[in-house]
Amino acid sequence: MASNSKNLSQGANFSQGTIAVRGGLNTDDQFGSVVPVITPSTCYRYEEFATPRKFDYGRKSNPSRRLVEETVAKLEGGVDAILTNCGMSAIHLVSVALLGPNDVVVAPHDCYGGSYRLFNSLSQKGYFKTKFVDQSDPAALKEALSLKPKLVLVESPSNPLLRVVDIAEIARQAHAVGALVLVDNTFMTPILQKPLELGADIVSHSGTKFLNGHSDLLAGILVFKDQQLATDVLWWANNIGTSTSSFDSYLLLRGLRTLAARVRLQQENAQKVVEYLTNHPKIAKVFHPSIPTNLGHDIAKKQQKGFGSLLSFELVGDADVMPKFLQALNIFTLAQSLGGVESLICHPATMTHSGISAEARKTAGISDQLLRISIGLEDINDLLGDLEQALAQI
Ligand code: PLP
Repeated sequence: MASNSKNLSQGANFSQGTIAVRGGLNTDDQFGSVVPVITPSTCYRYEEFATPRKFDYGRKSNPSRRLVEETVAKLEGGVDAILTNCGMSAIHLVSVALLGPNDVVVAPHDCYGGSYRLFNSLSQKGYFKTKFVDQSDPAALKEALSLKPKLVLVESPSNPLLRVVDIAEIARQAHAVGALVLVDNTFMTPILQKPLELGADIVSHSGTKFLNGHSDLLAGILVFKDQQLATDVLWWANNIGTSTSSFDSYLLLRGLRTLAARVRLQQENAQKVVEYLTNHPKIAKVFHPSIPTNLGHDIAKKQQKGFGSLLSFELVGDADVMPKFLQALNIFTLAQSLGGVESLICHPATMTHSGISAEARKTAGISDQLLRISIGLEDINDLLGDLEQALAQI
């Protein structure tokens, strides 16, 4: 008798919450296990001479990785995806696959510090050329696009100032000069933003963050709008070896099951923290896309399905207050990641963005008084109470 339970590829067009929960379920034909098995094997027996099966060697692909790729491709509305061993390797893979010594990449001047360092250092070695630009400045963007870039990286909202740029408009202008558009969607996840629908060609994620959500693995993922582009980049993934382990792939798929629920509740908590900090006399400024004065607030309302759970703020006072405040916190852990179920706090100037020169940080608006928070799933009253008691100590 046929089984009553189908897997996602056999089902109808489900909504994102359902796709996230059910990714890879019921794909085991041997035992009918509901949760997919982990396949650690690095190699796969040939059917016969010169006849490989679907998988042949684990560096290129394997069943555990493939289930994550299929699930995230569906969530982002792409045709295919490539899972890599961290977010940086995903971005590196795109640059290796697409760019040569005479090519230009246009990147945001306030992008994630690791992406800034990667593009900057590879440009210094002559692999390609990078033009960092404030993408919210139409004249600066126009000038950068006149260099006829091959790739435009967009990060919206940006890290750590949560500035929002118009993805559809940048994609339109980039395509007009023949560039491909890569959007780093780590902060929003496909639950809150769908860059491929806005015109992007590739979406990247640090899967280390919200997609997994439990701060216990490193992963990156690229999702493609076009199959040929995905196939070309996969050739490079196999060529340089960007593979994720089967066990990490399994954990990531498990983390994805709660993605929609986590994102919603973390965002709800974040909104209350934003309201609390906005009215506090010891806070000079709060950055969050929900705030009407935040750069790109109106665009955020239009291109995002929510404002997200990352925010940053500047403390009133001099350099002395920073260590005092951080030391006084009991729940917010001083650590440089985001998107997990636990709330983290980070000082960008000495942590995530320390690889950028002080001058470049200043240009991007990242001051030494700035802190970034990733709001988790703890009880909101405990989170607000922790901030309150720590602010009372400075
Ligand atoms: N993109 C963004 C927006 C990030 O915040 C990060 C890491 O913090 C990365 C990419 C890099 O990801 P990973 O640390 O998994 O290499």
